[in-house]
Parts: sequence; structure tokens; C-alpha cells
Amino acid sequence: MTEITFTPSAPGYWADANVSQEDWNSAKWQLKNRISSLADIEKHLTLCEEERAGILLTGTKLATAVTPHYFNLIHPTDPNCPMRRQVIPRIEETHTDPSELADPCGEDSHMPVPGLVHRYPDRVLFLVTDRCAAYCRYCTRSRVVSGVSDQKLETQWDAAIEYLKKTPQVRDVLLSGGDPLLFSDAKLEKLLSKLHAIPHIQFIRIGSRIPIFLPQRITPELCAMLKKFHPLFLSIHTNHPAELTSEVRDALGRLADAGVVMGNQSVLLDRVNDSVEVQKELVQKLLMCRVRPYYLYQGDLIQGTAHLRTGISKGIEIIEGLRGHTSGYAIPQYVVDAPGGGGKIPVNPQYVVESNTEHTILRNYEGKEFTYPEAKPSKIVR
Ligand SMILES: *Cc1c(COP(=O)(O)O)cnc(C)c1O
Repeated sequence: MTEITFTPSAPGYWADANVSQEDWNSAKWQLKNRISSLADIEKHLTLCEEERAGILLTGTKLATAVTPHYFNLIHPTDPNCPMRRQVIPRIEETHTDPSELADPCGEDSHMPVPGLVHRYPDRVLFLVTDRCAAYCRYCTRSRVVSGVSDQKLETQWDAAIEYLKKTPQVRDVLLSGGDPLLFSDAKLEKLLSKLHAIPHIQFIRIGSRIPIFLPQRITPELCAMLKKFHPLFLSIHTNHPAELTSEVRDALGRLADAGVVMGNQSVLLDRVNDSVEVQKELVQKLLMCRVRPYYLYQGDLIQGTAHLRTGISKGIEIIEGLRGHTSGYAIPQYVVDAPGGGGKIPVNPQYVVESNTEHTILRNYEGKEFTYPEAKPSKIVR
């Protein structure tokens, strides 16, 4: 049994930079002091050749930017550090496999209005910004995110709101991007108010990695504002237990206290979280932060991300290693977002050994088999 600990990100190497506690705790300061150039990164990390070349060559695909808070979690010399692999580019990003696509989940072809993806019958994905606090190298929307690639995110808020008003089957709106929590409280409040005022919209969710990259943004003022728009759900994005620092835990606590219902979305990544051991610690820590693991995603077929993907068998092995071995609340649904725009498809270990007209043979988490008889046709005439 490993002891679960939440350690602070500060003071790390920034203690040497003489930053005041007040600055460190300010989201504005964190954003202004993001680490993005090769020179700045090399001041603190010993880079390998693949990383140095990656930082120089990937700048026209997806920007490099890391908040000091998150940068502090990166190992100074180990290129296999899980946090490092998520945010520091590598030259492999310039390699494209023929199976990879710019828009693997087919979002661009499912937009009735620019920025609004309507794939499922009753819910929409509303891409409200192309900016994030820091950039994940495996970003599913790297084609439009961070503002450096040729394709720009087109988002038309007024047209999107009009579409939602006249589309009553939409009862669930998911705000994403980019990261919606990067907006000021006032701008976000305006958007939430407009959506909240549409009678058939039953609930709003926000997808955000800000609680992890920039916990300083989760101020009491932000939480008080969000509270006005219940039921409000927040899907956070954590991949490794070390990302759940004490600052992150406290930020999540403020959101939970404000009544925001939280789920976590993880992406299965090579040498980041591709083991049962790491995943188990992650999901158990999330429950301690009052966040329910929601999805574990198989890596999308994004151009230049082959070095971060694993096989689907790895995801099945992880779910198998969690189910029965830890709280059911801790277990996310493993999904593959189908290439070509088929949406999220659940993938599960096989627990049905045999099924016929007589019975179904099932296997439990320990591999023991159990038989459940088929229901007999009832003699009672209803
Ligand atoms: C993921 C996604 C949703 C939300 O799906 P849920 O399974 O309800 O979380 C909605 N629209 C699009 C386009 C998505 O990719």
C-alpha cells in the first residue's frame, strides 16, 4: 500500500528566481511567465537532442507554453518524466504516419455553425476559444489550438447561440476549446448567462485543464460566479497522480464546495500513465479530490503523436486491473473516439465467457467463472 500524498508545486526552482508568494499565487503572473522558448526551457532542464529539435521545429504546428506551476513538476534531467512528455515537444512530432489525420474525430464536418460540433442527438460541443494555459503535445485539436498553425478556429458565438435557441433537442452544452476558464470571470459569466437562459438547455458542462495547469485561476470569485449556473459540471483533465499537487487539490476543493460536479478525463499515454499502478494511484487520488474518473481515452490519431500512443490492449489491461481491485467509483470508462467521426465507443474487458439459450457464463475480476441461468418463459399470462 503506497501512501497517498499531495505535495505542493511551490517552492520549486522558482524559489531561486525570487518570486514573491503573492506573484506565484496570481494566475496573471503565472500566465505572463509561461515558459515557451528554448532558452528559457534550457535554463531549467537538461534537454535531449530529440527535445531540443522538437522545440525548434514544432512551433508552426502547436505552440509550446508551460505555466511555472506545472513546469515545477517536470524532472530536470529525465526525458521520460511523465509531466515532461506531456508538454515538452519532441522531434517525433514532425513525423506523420499515414494513418494519422489533422481532424481524426471528424469534428470539422459536424459543425452546423462554425465552432459548434453537433454529432450526438441531444448534446453539442461548443469550441469557444483556441487558447489554453499550457499546451498538451497530444492535443486532439492541435489543428486549431494555440494560434500558430494555418487552420484557425472559427467560432461564432452569436450564431451558435441562435442555433441552440432554435434546436430544442439540445439539452446539454459542453464548452471546450481551448480552455474556457482562461476567460475573465465577466466574459465567462456573460456566455454562461446566455446559455442558462435557453429553457431547453438542462445543463452546461465545461471542459478545462486549468485546475491542473493553473490552479491559481480557481479563485473564490470564480467559484461564486459559477455557482449561479447550476447544474454545472466540469470535466477536468489529469493524466498522472503527481499532477494532483496540494494547490490543485485545494482548487478542486473550492469548486466542489461551490457545488460544481466534477469528472476527470485522462488520455492513455506511453510512458506517462500506461500502467495499472500509475492509473490506480491517479483514480484513487481523484476521488480524494472529489472528482469522479469519467473517461480514459485511447489516444486520437493526431498527426505527430505516434510516440505518445499505446495499443488498445493496454487500455483494456488497465481497466481489467482496476475493476474489482478498487472502488467502482474510481473506474473510468475506456473509450476510443472513432477515427472518421463515429464518436466515442466504449471498450471493455470481456467478462462474458459464453452465452447461449440455457445460461451465461461470466468471469469475475479474479478469473473465477460463474453461471447465470437464462430466464424461463413465464407461465403467467399477463
Ligand atoms: C465527447 C463529445 C460530447 C460529449 O459526450 P459524452 O459522452 O456525453 O460526454 C459531445 N459532442 C462531441 C462532439 C464530443 O466529442
